[in-house]
Amino acid sequence: MNAEQIEKIWEDVKKILETEIPVSSYDAWVEPLELIDYEDNQIKLLSGQAIAVEYLKKNHYPKFLEAFKQVLQKEVTVNFETDKETFDKIKKAKAKEEKKEERKAEKIQKKEEEHKKAIENLGYVQSMNLNLKYRFDNFVTDENNKMAKAAAEMVAKNPNAQYNPLYIQGGSGLGKTHLMQAIGHALIKNKKIQCVKSEIFINEYINSTARNKESNKSNLMNKFRQKYRNIDVLLIDDIQFFEGKKQCMEELFNTFDSLHIANKQIVLTSDRLPKDMPEMPQRLISRFEQGLVVEIQPPKEETRIKILKNIANTKNLTVPDSVFEYIAKNYKTNVRELEGAFNKVEAFASFEDTEITLDFAKHVLKCEERNELNIEKIAQEVSKHYGISIEDIKSSARSANISKARKITAFISKEYLKLKLEEIAKYIDKKHQTVIYACDQIKEKISKDNNLEKEVKEILSTLNL
Ligand code: ADP
Ligand code: MG
Repeated sequence: MNAEQIEKIWEDVKKILETEIPVSSYDAWVEPLELIDYEDNQIKLLSGQAIAVEYLKKNHYPKFLEAFKQVLQKEVTVNFETDKETFDKIKKAKAKEEKKEERKAEKIQKKEEEHKKAIENLGYVQSMNLNLKYRFDNFVTDENNKMAKAAAEMVAKNPNAQYNPLYIQGGSGLGKTHLMQAIGHALIKNKKIQCVKSEIFINEYINSTARNKESNKSNLMNKFRQKYRNIDVLLIDDIQFFEGKKQCMEELFNTFDSLHIANKQIVLTSDRLPKDMPEMPQRLISRFEQGLVVEIQPPKEETRIKILKNIANTKNLTVPDSVFEYIAKNYKTNVRELEGAFNKVEAFASFEDTEITLDFAKHVLKCEERNELNIEKIAQEVSKHYGISIEDIKSSARSANISKARKITAFISKEYLKLKLEEIAKYIDKKHQTVIYACDQIKEKISKDNNLEKEVKEILSTLNL
């Protein structure tokens, strides 16, 4: 029997004795005893004081026998010994060990606190440090996004849950985060708001549950709930990330209801409409739909030019109109990419210490080459890669190879060509939900499956992407 087992026996026995022996005697005489040996049904208990042994033998000996019998499930003899020197040595070693444990626990606690702070800070940055770039006054509108802006302004003016939730839907880079943060700016002085990306909400939630299990305290969870429920306005960005994460969706549902019942304003953004998130439970979808759902469509060309001109203005740059027009013509579906293209031209011009001209912009962006790509060409390369035909991709065949090729075609068309779901769906002759599912599946699988990642990379490189 090892020391640890012996220690455990003694701890169990002490637990029984604690209930049998008056507390003052127990604390003074029993608690300090050490079980130093257990062999051949002989227990050896060591004390530092002869008087303790005498007292216990005289007053409580049968209780010791009984307690050991209960723990060991057999009869043993209990012997008391007094040896101050050994006793002190053991105690000293134990104290040292305890100190070590204590220091270790302190270290862990410190780390946990740092971690907690980091999470809190992250939330703080998200909530309070709203990006000043995102305001109503620099959001350029046309008929494709004016409803969304008007709704956001309405909520910002009157966050009394009249439209609750406000649900802003739009493709990537179309200004959802911009509008949501603009609401935040408008309200931050007078309302208690939380603005959070879905990934952060999810991570914080998971961290609070995981750590709860360890420490058996509901502290972190309470704090988490306080943070998201004890507020006036909750802004959650990119709600589609919740899809399929069961417990997180449940937490979102409860958070939503608790705010909604209290008439607190909720604003959500997503790249999909509620009904296009098949793995969201119906009760969440119906809640998303119960306020006001506004869609943002890609801005028109003149709006894109205006956005670029605004950026040039704020940077004090003089740029010929032809450059704005060229970029606006070639970046139609994502304002982030539109801005990115302009920034790239500007950065290259500044590296090369040259003026921004149309030729220079063309040289940097090479849009013509990019524009030659279409879904047919993507399907061609993909089918070549998997040794199948384009007809296979468009067919309803479900064999693993064909199905994979079809999904990759959809994925590349959506992610790199920025084709609309409807166009991809039409090309592969499937429903647009099927395209969403296919793209999500490939995206997720690529992050886990090195082979698939390699295959897709090879196809992309043959397409010059
Ligand atoms: P999303 O959240 O929809 O992916 P963002 O809100 O992050 O898109 O917008 C991407 C970039 O495009 C941001 O820099 C944003 O300021 C800018 N942007 C998008 N739409 C507009 C617009 N209508 N007017 C001005 N800037 C815009
Ligand atoms: Mg966004």
